[in-house]
Amino acid sequence: MDLSVAGDIRERFLKLGVDLDEEDINQRLRRLTLEFKVPEDEARRSVINYFLKENGLEREKYYAGASDDLIAIGDIKEEGRWVNLKAKVVQLWEPSHESIHQTGLLGDGTGTIKFTMFESSSDPEEMVLEEGRSYLIRGAVTGIWQGRYQLNFNRATTIEEIDEEIIVESPTQEFTGVIVEIQSGSGLIKRCPECNRALSKGSCNEHGRVEGVYDLRIKAVIDDGEKTQDVIINRELTEELCGITLEEARDMATEALDHGIVADVIRRKILARYYTITGRRFDRYLLAETIKPKKFSNDVLERLLSQVSQSSE
Ligand SMILES: [Zn+2]
Repeated sequence: MDLSVAGDIRERFLKLGVDLDEEDINQRLRRLTLEFKVPEDEARRSVINYFLKENGLEREKYYAGASDDLIAIGDIKEEGRWVNLKAKVVQLWEPSHESIHQTGLLGDGTGTIKFTMFESSSDPEEMVLEEGRSYLIRGAVTGIWQGRYQLNFNRATTIEEIDEEIIVESPTQEFTGVIVEIQSGSGLIKRCPECNRALSKGSCNEHGRVEGVYDLRIKAVIDDGEKTQDVIINRELTEELCGITLEEARDMATEALDHGIVADVIRRKILARYYTITGRRFDRYLLAETIKPKKFSNDVLERLLSQVSQSSE
């Protein structure tokens, strides 16, 4: 058991005016985890509950009011933490399950994070977030899914709208590696003239069958030898990178009677090559702002290249 867990519990109780003995907390934690093999999270919860009861405190008060410190989204680097933050609702998404009351993307000046509010966590009438509005959120819990942090709102979470303009920004990131995959949806595509979404078989998810507008883009996967990153490359960068304009791509596709030919050209130009890409993250994608070829130089690269040639066969 991590010593800091006991320290953390002690500190939170101090804020509620209760001075616990850290060694006492620690012994109880150790007993549960070592003797009774209780998982750490559960041990922590039950020790907290014990001291809450002992001191006649309400659970909600401990969790929601434990700390007044606000955390910046970019500083969320640990799961299972109770946090307070000020954030703006960037997007709301359709809940994927009936137990989810609301889900979407929150942002502040340091990044964005997915949030999920479960039905059971709130009075639905009272807690409804709106896109573009800013809120002070207390007592949200950090979690992690597929390597990305997220926030879960529960019964103890409080949400208060604030009259404060929050500028949402994701910091620019850099990624260097080999392009190991050009995904479907790359090359010459059509977009909905209403909402700009890429069409699928001539249809927009939102607006149905529409007269699409041509665009050029690349959805790629880049690999640095340790991890992979999904990247989206917009028209301007694609044109520059592949030496082909949108016009030329259209002509090429018309002549070949096949849109797929453009993706083939892109594949030949950039697959298995080494690049440094800078951009901002949005959801699981890195939206490329610059992309620069790198010289082939190291062993990692050679190993990657052999993987690429194997997987593309
Ligand atoms: Zn549309």
